Amino acid sequence: MGISADREAELLAQVPTGLLIDGQWRDAAGGRTFDVEDPATGKTLLSIADASAGDGALAMDAAAAAQAGWARTAPRERGEILRRAFELVTERAEDFALLMTLEMGKPLAEARGEVTYGAEFLRWFSEEAVRISGRYSTAPDGKSRLLVNRKPVGPCLLITPWNFPLAMATRKIAPAVAAGCTMVLKPAKLTPLTSQLFAAVMMEAGLPAGVLNVVSTTAAGDVTGPILKDSRLRKVSFTGSTPVGQSLIRDAAENVLRTSMELGGNAPFIVFEDADLDKAVDGAMAAKLRNMGEACTAANRFIVQDTVADEFAEKFAARVGAMTTGRGTEEDTKIGPLIDGKSRDKVHALVSEALDGGAVALVGGEPEDGPGYFYRPTVLKNVPADARILKEEIFGPVAPIVTFSGEDEAVALANNTEYGLVSYVFTRDLNRGLRIGEKLETGMLGLNAGVVSNAAAPFGGVKQSGLGREGGAEGIDEYLYTQYIGIADPYAG
Ligand code: NAP
Repeated sequence: MGISADREAELLAQVPTGLLIDGQWRDAAGGRTFDVEDPATGKTLLSIADASAGDGALAMDAAAAAQAGWARTAPRERGEILRRAFELVTERAEDFALLMTLEMGKPLAEARGEVTYGAEFLRWFSEEAVRISGRYSTAPDGKSRLLVNRKPVGPCLLITPWNFPLAMATRKIAPAVAAGCTMVLKPAKLTPLTSQLFAAVMMEAGLPAGVLNVVSTTAAGDVTGPILKDSRLRKVSFTGSTPVGQSLIRDAAENVLRTSMELGGNAPFIVFEDADLDKAVDGAMAAKLRNMGEACTAANRFIVQDTVADEFAEKFAARVGAMTTGRGTEEDTKIGPLIDGKSRDKVHALVSEALDGGAVALVGGEPEDGPGYFYRPTVLKNVPADARILKEEIFGPVAPIVTFSGEDEAVALANNTEYGLVSYVFTRDLNRGLRIGEKLETGMLGLNAGVVSNAAAPFGGVKQSGLGREGGAEGIDEYLYTQYIGIADPYAG
């Protein structure tokens, strides 16, 4: 049974439609608004304020004005705000899940999983807020003392993507709050509603005015450009595509900003002949089809030992072919729509080129008729080594399979990309798994596991997949800087 139209309307009526600046929900300059659409139907869900550069400047003013006072709050107080936010999000889990399904398209069951994952950053960093520590030591020559302290970096610009509307926001906001930083958040224009509702929850949890400011907009560069140039800004944290990340790094250089970059991926999923193939297929389903393949962690290339490639491909294709597509609000939907027509066209172009080059579709290979931007889950084998689909992020429910014969070849294929976010390895031989892990150029590795995301783990990539880590003990470091105080010898009189 699906969700009623009344329930959808009642939830949408609770989403703030203004810009959050200095604790107030305000109209955008000139009363400008934009529509947020349901990708499963193409219909407008809600119109919300569309920030201009001037609105962005007001948000930056608010963040800068709040910084000194916020940095002085007791860590316990910051932790308790986060803890309350965790409880409020958990109480409203169904609201957040439905809102994400409506604006992003993912099936409700997956949206519920994202609420749990996203809320966990609030709980994790509520606990980290009180564990920020420094050190006091004696200099090697015994003549002075070294006091090392860690302080909030200052106002941060946070830019998030559309694919995980809650988790990508909490993964940045929670450590920034814990560290004592103020923020301007610019959510993705395709899925801003979850951030709007989440910001209201943060205010309800007791976050003081000006600490979190939210500027949803259709003019990302116009709003963030001047903020990046503002000398009061200290950091930019971005999750999104590598080209946009590269341009933000260039902009950040001018102001010498701290940067955290969670960028694109091209994850290899390696299956050795000694793997438990049923478990490998379970892992492949999660690594490929979660979020319709619209995840930076999505397995992008299946690299399977030639001796088991046919068996793996058949088992995988049978499971993939049984996935039902539909609006995410229907309980039996396993695969929702892609985010928009442009994304669906891109996915289909990659598949068509691979098929033209000699690949074979075991299932799928076609978009589905509208309304909505659905693409049939697809498994491709015999994919040519030079196919574009092996080089670019697919961001759709499409699994290309290539084969290898020896360990070194598997590693060479896996590392043959400018990305290095996550890799997956399936083998029963733990030594082999660890050895391959040491050889792979990757920030994260799933060893016999198709999902690696965990609030307690350091998430992030190497190469062009990014800089810095989110989550884990490392996550808060991104929002702290180290200050050292040299103290004269206390015995010197
Ligand atoms: P995107 O096009 O790079 O957009 C990400 C964010 O940047 C959005 O808020 C977007 O605003 C904004 N943006 C775009 N151009 C900008 C500019 N010139 N200046 C400032 N901001 C700008 O990426 P996406 O399509 O939303 O997300 C998919 C990408 O994110 C994939 O590459 C995926 O791998 C990556 N991703 C990475 C991680 C990770 O942790 N490594 C996690 C999730 C996603 P608009 O909405 O207005 O365009």
